Amino acid sequence: MKNKKTKFIFVMGGVLSGLGKGIATSSIAKLLQSRGFKVTAMKIDPYINVDAGTMNPTEHGEVFVTKDGLETDQDIGNYERFLDLELDADNYMTQGSVWQTVINKERNLEYGGKCVEPVPHIPDEVIRRIKKLANKSKADFVMIEIGGTVGEYQNFIFLEAARMMKLKMPNQVMSIMVSYLPIPSKIGEMKTKPTQTAVKTLNSAGIQPDFILARSEKVLDHKRKEKISTFCNVAIEDVISSPDVDNIYQVPIVYRQQNLDKRILLKFKMKANNRDLQDWQKKLLEIPKKTRKKVKIGLVGKYFSTGSFTLSDSYISVIESLKFAAWYHKFNIEFVWIDSESIEKGKTDLKVLNDFAGIVVPGGFGSRGVEGIIQAIEFIRKSKIPYFGLCYGMQLACIEFARNVLKLKDANTTEIDKQTTNPIIDLMSEQKQNIKDARYGGTMRLGDYSCQLVPKTIAAQAYNSTSVVERHRHRYEFNNKYLNKITKAGLIVSGINKKRNLVEIVELTDHPFFVGVQFHPEFKSRPLRPHPLFLQFISAAIKRQEYKNK
Ligand code: GLN
Repeated sequence: MKNKKTKFIFVMGGVLSGLGKGIATSSIAKLLQSRGFKVTAMKIDPYINVDAGTMNPTEHGEVFVTKDGLETDQDIGNYERFLDLELDADNYMTQGSVWQTVINKERNLEYGGKCVEPVPHIPDEVIRRIKKLANKSKADFVMIEIGGTVGEYQNFIFLEAARMMKLKMPNQVMSIMVSYLPIPSKIGEMKTKPTQTAVKTLNSAGIQPDFILARSEKVLDHKRKEKISTFCNVAIEDVISSPDVDNIYQVPIVYRQQNLDKRILLKFKMKANNRDLQDWQKKLLEIPKKTRKKVKIGLVGKYFSTGSFTLSDSYISVIESLKFAAWYHKFNIEFVWIDSESIEKGKTDLKVLNDFAGIVVPGGFGSRGVEGIIQAIEFIRKSKIPYFGLCYGMQLACIEFARNVLKLKDANTTEIDKQTTNPIIDLMSEQKQNIKDARYGGTMRLGDYSCQLVPKTIAAQAYNSTSVVERHRHRYEFNNKYLNKITKAGLIVSGINKKRNLVEIVELTDHPFFVGVQFHPEFKSRPLRPHPLFLQFISAAIKRQEYKNK
C-alpha cells in the first residue's frame, strides 16, 4: 500500500536506559507492517564514535553489520529480525557521524559564509538524513529511535530534530515515550512520579508525547494509567502497559491487545487495514511456550562479564539465531556460557563440554582467552561434539587443526603472535597498510561478500545452493600458503570468495557437524526464516542429545 506522505514516529526513552526502546520500536514497526504498510526504522546513537565499530561489546553490546558494511548498534539487528528486512547505512547515525558531516560541509564552504551552529545546523543534518531514508525506502512509516534518556545532555540535539520536524510537518510526525515505572520493594507499589518528571523534561524540549509506553515488571492498573494520563497530558487509551515478558516476540501482541497500532493510525487519519500475525504467534510464541524439550548449547567466549553481571547482549544475534533454529525444530534452548579464560587457567575442566549437544564459538578479537578456546576446539573435534565456529571461531578452528593435525606447533594468527613461523591466519596487504597508518575505524572486511559453495559439502547441502552472500566483519584471513597442506590433511574448504580467492567456510567430514565460517551468518537469520547453517547445526545437536539420552 502506498501513502502519499510518509509518517515519522520518534521513539524516545524516559527515566532509565536499557528499557528496550529497540524492541518497542521494532514491535510498533512490526504491527504497522502487519497491516500492509511499508515500514522502515532507524537508530540515532548519541555517541561521538562515528560508528559502533570501535566500541568494546561489553560497553555497548553487539556490533551489528549492515549489508553495505556499516558497523552499527544491535538495535538495527532487532529491526531487521522483526521486520524481515535488510537495512543499510542510511538506517543508522551517531552523533559523531552527524557532526563530521556538518564540519566537512563547513570546510567545503557549503554554508556560504554563515556562522554554523549546533542548532539549527545539527538537527537540520539529522532531518536531512531522516528524509533521505524516507525517499529511498518509499516507506509509509519511518520509525526513528533516539538513543539515550530524555533529560541527559547527550541526546538533546536529536530531540531538537524531532521538535523541528513536528513544527514543519505537524500531521506527519508523532512522538512516543518509553518510560519506566518502578515498584520499590519496600513500598510495594508502582510509582508514576519519575515518568511524570520525564514527560515534563520532554515538554521543556518542546515535545508532547502522543503515547507513553509504560515499562514495568507488572501490568499497569487503571489507577496508574489514569494518573499518567492526567499528569502527562496523554489520553488514557494512549498509555500503553508494557510489562516484562519472557519472550521479546510477544511485545507486538501485548501492544496490539491495547490497540496501539489502531490508535496510531487513527491519529494520523489513516485507514486500519487487515492484520496478520498468525504465523508469528504460532511459531515464535506458542512453540517456545508449549515445547518441553530443550537442547543444551554451550557458547565459548570472553565478552560475557561486566563486573559481577553476565552480558548476553554482546552475542545477541547469535543467541537469537540459535533460538530460531531450535524453535523450528520444536525445541527450546538451554544456553550455558563457558568463559574461555577459565578453561585457559585450568578452572574449567574440558570434560564438561561432553554434556553439551553442541558448541558455538562466536566472533572475537585479541588474545585474551584464545588459548582456552583452542583447547576447547581440540576437545570438541576429537569428541565429535557438533561445532559451529563463527568468524574468530573459524580462524581458531583452523589454527587448532594446524597445530594438532599438521603438527605445526606454533601455528597462530598474526593478530596474536606477529612472529609466528606459521601464520595460518594473517593480514592481507591492504590491511597491513591500515594497521601501519592506525586506520582502524570502518576498515575491516565489512558487509556483503559472495561465497561459492563446493558441491556435496555440508555447507552446500545446508544452503541447497551453489553461491550465497553473507556479511563480514574481520581483518584477518585464512593464509592461502597453507591451503594445500591443510586440505590434504583433511580440512575441507567448502566455501570460497572467488573474486579475492579467500577461504570462507571450512568443515570436517569424519564428524557429525564441524563447520567454521569466516562470515557472520547470525546477521541474516530471521525469526520465521532461520539461517540454514544454524538449522543444520541445531539438528546435529539434537541428534547427539537424543542419542546420548537413549
Ligand atoms: N579477530 C578476527 C579478525 O579480525 C575475527 C573477527 C571476528 O570474529 N569478528 O579477523
